[in-house]
Amino acid sequence: MGKTSKDKRDLYYRRAKEEGWRARSAYKLLQLDQEFNLLGENVKRVVDLCAAPGSWSQVLSSKLSTTSTIIAVDLQPMTPIDNVTTIQADITHPKTLQQILTHFNGELADFVCSDGAPDVTGLHDLDEYIQHQLVWSALQLTTCILKPGGSFVAKIFRGQDIDLMYYKLQRFFGKVICAKPKSSRSTSLEAFIVCLDYKPIPGWIPRLDLNKSTNEFFEGIEFGDDNQRSIVEFVSCGGDDAFDSDATYNIEEDSKRLDPIQLPTAPPYKKALELKRKGELSRREIK
Ligand code: SAM
Repeated sequence: MGKTSKDKRDLYYRRAKEEGWRARSAYKLLQLDQEFNLLGENVKRVVDLCAAPGSWSQVLSSKLSTTSTIIAVDLQPMTPIDNVTTIQADITHPKTLQQILTHFNGELADFVCSDGAPDVTGLHDLDEYIQHQLVWSALQLTTCILKPGGSFVAKIFRGQDIDLMYYKLQRFFGKVICAKPKSSRSTSLEAFIVCLDYKPIPGWIPRLDLNKSTNEFFEGIEFGDDNQRSIVEFVSCGGDDAFDSDATYNIEEDSKRLDPIQLPTAPPYKKALELKRKGELSRREIK
């Protein structure tokens, strides 16, 4: 496992297979919750934006009571999860908000999270810009469904303009923190904004409209100078004994090792295993 820092099959990947999480991302939400108690007992209505394949929804389903309402939204279809309502939709489309609200019977959400990521192009500035647009879309939707005092968590990439975003987020939340779970590779710019204590802006009514740009959506809010930036607290979370996702571990020494619950369906080493079983393994044949 974890032959190099770029090997995607790190310890968290293996643990996810063993413990039945659909993606290693599950540990990111678990570690964020461990640090910030995001999924406390008062949390009854939650929205998981950009949820496929569903490991965050699995965490929500396992942590929250069965009477909670959990809505998961993604462009991709999702295999059902106990106690989770899945909606296949675009979070940037106003109709998606209406679809979510129909499940809340007039109540507002206690917690909204977004692990959204667009397809990356490899051009860092462009990728960062598109990621920011997705966070803004998640925030727009959140301002329409989150109750005062509620929390919002979203994936960000800590590029050079992230402090502009921190500044704007601080207008909506009592506390904004940049958190890096140990399960998020330190070699990656990925981090999570943890926004606590939602404070709706007095007199401003958020309205999603397909014809409105992000700037128009936030029209009427006094953000000050366009170039206002903020520095926020940075927290590494997961606990001192959490595995380091960039390190290499010897799995034979890991006494708690379990066999994977579900083996990969078509791993690249499948052919080699078949040949080995038949006793025909040779360098030439596995090419
Ligand atoms: N949190 C998920 C989990 O734990 O399984 C992983 C999320 S994955 C990193 C990012 C997801 O964002 C993808 O499934 C993608 O389809 C979704 N996504 C990107 N843009 C979206 C949009 N505009 N609306 C809905 N989903 C979107």
